[in-house]
Amino acid sequence: MKIYNTLSKQKEEFIPVEEGKVKMYVCGPTVYNYIHIGNARPMIVFDTVRRYMEYKGYDVNYVSNFTDVDDKIIKKAMEEGVPSQEISRRYIAECKKDMEGMNVKPATTHPLATEEIDGMLQMIENLMEKGYAYKVEDGTVYFRTRKFPEYGKLSHKNLDDLESGHRDEAHAVKVQSADGKEDEFDFVLWKPKKEGEPYWESPWCQGRPGWHIECSVMARKYLGDQIDIHAGGEDLIFPHHENEIAQSEAANGKNFSKYWMHNGFLNIDNRKMSKSLGNFFTVREISERYDLQVLRFFMLSAHYRSPLNFSAELMEAAKSGLMRIITAAENLKHLKGITAVQEMTAEEEKLFAGSDVYVSKFEAAMEDDFNTADAVSAVFELVKYLNTHAASDKSAELLGKFHHRLTSLCDILGIIVEREEEILDSAIEALIQERKEARKAKNFARADEIRDELLQKGIILEDTREGVKWKRV
Ligand code: AMP
Ligand code: ZN
Repeated sequence: MKIYNTLSKQKEEFIPVEEGKVKMYVCGPTVYNYIHIGNARPMIVFDTVRRYMEYKGYDVNYVSNFTDVDDKIIKKAMEEGVPSQEISRRYIAECKKDMEGMNVKPATTHPLATEEIDGMLQMIENLMEKGYAYKVEDGTVYFRTRKFPEYGKLSHKNLDDLESGHRDEAHAVKVQSADGKEDEFDFVLWKPKKEGEPYWESPWCQGRPGWHIECSVMARKYLGDQIDIHAGGEDLIFPHHENEIAQSEAANGKNFSKYWMHNGFLNIDNRKMSKSLGNFFTVREISERYDLQVLRFFMLSAHYRSPLNFSAELMEAAKSGLMRIITAAENLKHLKGITAVQEMTAEEEKLFAGSDVYVSKFEAAMEDDFNTADAVSAVFELVKYLNTHAASDKSAELLGKFHHRLTSLCDILGIIVEREEEILDSAIEALIQERKEARKAKNFARADEIRDELLQKGIILEDTREGVKWKRV
């Protein structure tokens, strides 16, 4: 399996730190609002990487944080006049709903920055002891970037070049800010609180951590000093991931992550997505118009490292492509239900073996740096093959194996082809009758349970004077 490593700018063979295991950290969103469709891209692509690793038999420990202390969260909390924790908790819950809609598996651990402050204090102290960090007058602690000779190895930047390129700016920064930094590239590990902001006690001042130290600490706590894959959007390469490397490697004395993966950006109508341009969509908004499976399928139709343009036409194309796959799966299931033949014939064995080539194509695409665009093409080729050979005179065994082959490839992509079985009207009526009897017997717990059970299946009950009415949502 080959992975493009931002560190070497090459595709490299994947060799895990520990045999059979994958330790993976994906930088998660800052939770001050509903996530937008740009945030959804790393969630979907790296969930697909995880699924493929699991398909290959790896035991994957997948960690993805929520950044729950940040200027934007504090600002929103002040606007609403509520504690910032209320904002972060609210949008973590909403984010999890969106993830579920996109069929993104919950991480093995979703750590919260605010629950890991002790680890951050420890790592900062360790960096200070080793001379990699220093405190200035107001209590801010900075990382001494020039002490880490490999700084710039991920973003392929050289501090001296950066400095000469920014000489004027750098000069301006020094004159204006007078923040006590020894060097313009030093970055914040800990900063003092401002009025009304959340804060924690520390040996340096009452304050809060810098963003970069959060990820270094959470990755170490849940995955160890050395991890296999660290991932996020390409905007995180510099400075976020570069700074994470400097902190972790200076503190732990070991190479931090073997492979660094970065997804390309999602644009809208070929322009950068931004609130001010008015071309900004949340996942929630998209879910009002499309099943979020369509969004997932759309994202996977491109290579994760390419920029991806979001448009109504491309979403419509994704929708009809997805329908083609779903229809093929449903047709196979239907035929299996009506065929009179049970066992596979020798001829059918050959027919089934004829579909092996599409699985091989799918795997080859995924092995080549997770080329989901080609993997999706292989699924379409398989669909064409299945549609050609599926018929009601084929055996149930063959039709079942065809169906399983299609659904298992889709499962690696996180695409659900099978709709939930619809609950029949007669079953609903029976449950409503049971609820009526439960209420008569004053068994309100059971009555509520039935209402909830139906709600989960998309059935809403309404108690009216004429009796109970129900509708599907
Ligand atoms: P943030 O909440 O800004 O820290 O972003 C969370 C994740 O979403 C990071 O991995 C970002 O790189 C990624 N991200 C943000 N905007 C986009 C975008 N337009 N396209 C792709 N990824 C993005
Ligand atoms: Zn991070």
